[in-house]
Amino acid sequence: MTNSETITDSVLDIEKIRRDFPILKTKVYGKPLIYLDNAATTQKPQPVLESLHNYYTHYNSNVHRGVHFLSQQATEAYEVARRKIAGYINARHEHEIIFTKGTTNGINLVAASFGKKFLKAGDEVLISAMEHHSNIVPWQLICEEKGATLKVIPIDEAGELKMDGFDELLTDKVKIVAVTYVSNSLGTVNPVHEIIQKAHAVNVPVLIDAAQAIQHMPIDIQQLDADFLAFSGHKIYGPTGVGILYGKEKWLNEMPPYEGGGDMIKNVTFAKTTYNELPFKFEAGTPDISGGIALGAAIDYVQHVGISAIQQAEEEVVAYAYDRLSAIPSLRFIGDAKHRSGAISFLVGNIHPFDLGEILDKQSIAVRTGHHCTQPVMDFFQIPGTVRASFAFYNTKAEVDALVDGIEKAKRMLE
Ligand code: PLP
Repeated sequence: MTNSETITDSVLDIEKIRRDFPILKTKVYGKPLIYLDNAATTQKPQPVLESLHNYYTHYNSNVHRGVHFLSQQATEAYEVARRKIAGYINARHEHEIIFTKGTTNGINLVAASFGKKFLKAGDEVLISAMEHHSNIVPWQLICEEKGATLKVIPIDEAGELKMDGFDELLTDKVKIVAVTYVSNSLGTVNPVHEIIQKAHAVNVPVLIDAAQAIQHMPIDIQQLDADFLAFSGHKIYGPTGVGILYGKEKWLNEMPPYEGGGDMIKNVTFAKTTYNELPFKFEAGTPDISGGIALGAAIDYVQHVGISAIQQAEEEVVAYAYDRLSAIPSLRFIGDAKHRSGAISFLVGNIHPFDLGEILDKQSIAVRTGHHCTQPVMDFFQIPGTVRASFAFYNTKAEVDALVDGIEKAKRMLE
């Protein structure tokens, strides 16, 4: 099964879809919520809420250890969710799907475990200048421990990767490349296929941070051929506290466990412990059972709507937003990549992003302001932060109009 869809190319019935997300009926300061902070976290559709409620109401029990009825039911539901996620990204094997706490946890797992086994003094890890802190700091930690060096693919003024810089940096010292598919602060979609092909041509594995990609576009992991791919459940309409690390079987088998504890062992004695098979080797302790099952429900929901239809609807609303925002005098975009998705970052005149964010908030418009956990990006553009509007398929053009009106109002107040 791949990204199978019931609605394929049609533009979505957004009003109908919005009814699936109860929170979208919320009023903020007495006005309807306009939620444009989807890159931080997405809202949850009814089936995800029901899945969580259903688990705790009817079959709450620990997984993988019990012979009793509820435990078997919970284990079955949890493993069905793993299967759905494997299907969604077209993984070759279900055991290549590791449940984590989220993207950050998945990247830390790879940095620590791959790094422990494969990095030594003098080696290099290659990331990019537009990474989220969670794809920088874990690598800094392991590089420091091992005496390896972190190298950074530069970006240009448009917020795109300088691919000639990548070619130059991809030397035989590089042991792993870790890049984001989509930038959370610039909205840039990176040429990850090309990066993976070039890295593989010199036998270097690649980790893709898919935190901002998995909810916006189809991902076929076999076609992409990434060695690792990490994402968070809460950014694809699932709950917080759960995420996925995909890893190719051959790497996961060679890598040591990240954490020790229950579930990840085959046999424990004080003299020696043997480890469980994949994926359990990397899943120590009681997992977020309800979260994993509800992530499966989120994947069902996305597949029911259709990821291609979602992509199309989002591209339309993002293009509309870009057009309307472009017409605001003194608004400048931060990041102007040709290929973009999800988020639009901007500044207006010399209004501080926090001030603009606060005035928008009072108009019930939720945007994010600040460095978006990408301080090196802000340093590159020599700015303190941006205002970021980030979109999901339930956002409407009317909401974009409200954003534009809100910015105009802020300009009148502050400029
Ligand atoms: N990577 C990117 C590109 C992100 O946008 C985020 C979150 O915004 C993360 C990683 C970290 O995700 P989480 O906090 O869910 O672990």
